Amino acid sequence: MQLNSFSDITSDYQYIYLSPHFDDVVYSCAGTIGAQVYRGHRPLVITVFAGIPSSRLKLSVLAVKFHTYMGFDQFASKILKYRGVGRVVIQLREMLASGQDAGAVIRARRKEDARALTYLQADYLWLDYLEAIYRGSPAYYHRQSQLVGGEVNPADRWIEKQLALDLLTLHKRLPGAVWYAPLGIGRHLDHQIVTSAVDALIQVGANVKLYEDFPYVVREGALEHRLEESAWRLVPELVEVCETLHLRQTAAEMYSSQTKMNFENVAKMYSSQIKKSLDSKEAMYKIMGDYTQSIHPEKTEHMERYWIPGKALRDKVNPVE
Ligand SMILES: [Zn+2]
Repeated sequence: MQLNSFSDITSDYQYIYLSPHFDDVVYSCAGTIGAQVYRGHRPLVITVFAGIPSSRLKLSVLAVKFHTYMGFDQFASKILKYRGVGRVVIQLREMLASGQDAGAVIRARRKEDARALTYLQADYLWLDYLEAIYRGSPAYYHRQSQLVGGEVNPADRWIEKQLALDLLTLHKRLPGAVWYAPLGIGRHLDHQIVTSAVDALIQVGANVKLYEDFPYVVREGALEHRLEESAWRLVPELVEVCETLHLRQTAAEMYSSQTKMNFENVAKMYSSQIKKSLDSKEAMYKIMGDYTQSIHPEKTEHMERYWIPGKALRDKVNPVE
């Protein structure tokens, strides 16, 4: 079920997941969500950068490149197709989503998200902040290296502050809620903004569990690097997901427009390792299975890992005024 604003969030919600983009929580935590649903809960996923850009927005070369890569462009041959569990006929308007029309792209991606979260039996709220590639006129971020690993443009600082204020207000209303937020592995700008806003929740003692941003976490050394730079002493907590891993994989597949972008490199890596050609979807299934098993002490079960903040190691690294 879709919620329309923060005021729709009632105290019935005990588990609240913060997703920078549409796919992050499903990619990283859907095994845990599945286990909570099995126990009779109704988790909520709040996607922060889910805003629909104005039709007047002039897109940067980078944004158009991303759209093409996701499979959206002006040619019908690049139609967004849903495969896997059933097949959904998408409205013609969205099938023909032009590489120049960011609104159509986000509306199509919202449909992917709604389908995945409905499948998982989670509720969802989309906030209206624009994704990094759509911010600024002219665009603040022109290069991939700025998006991942770059610095947040000072003109974007208000997002972190506003988001932190809204989260703190919600925490006051729902003090018993458990929050799941990105650890910020991989340093995507939008993940950094959410992670910084969540510091405000941690500082007031909210029950926050930081999830391992997937698939960034599978990169060699990425997790260790992030743990080292964190402002908090972090203690790992494992959740067993043997029974629900398939839900995470199936729901992840529903973000069809993102699969190639996120798992093409993984597919290349596996293909050369096992001397057999894997496509991006097969690689996604395999890496989710392999990674969740790799973090189990005996490597015999599948786990999702969360990092629980304890003592602050340094003064406010990410100040929220
Ligand atoms: Zn993301």
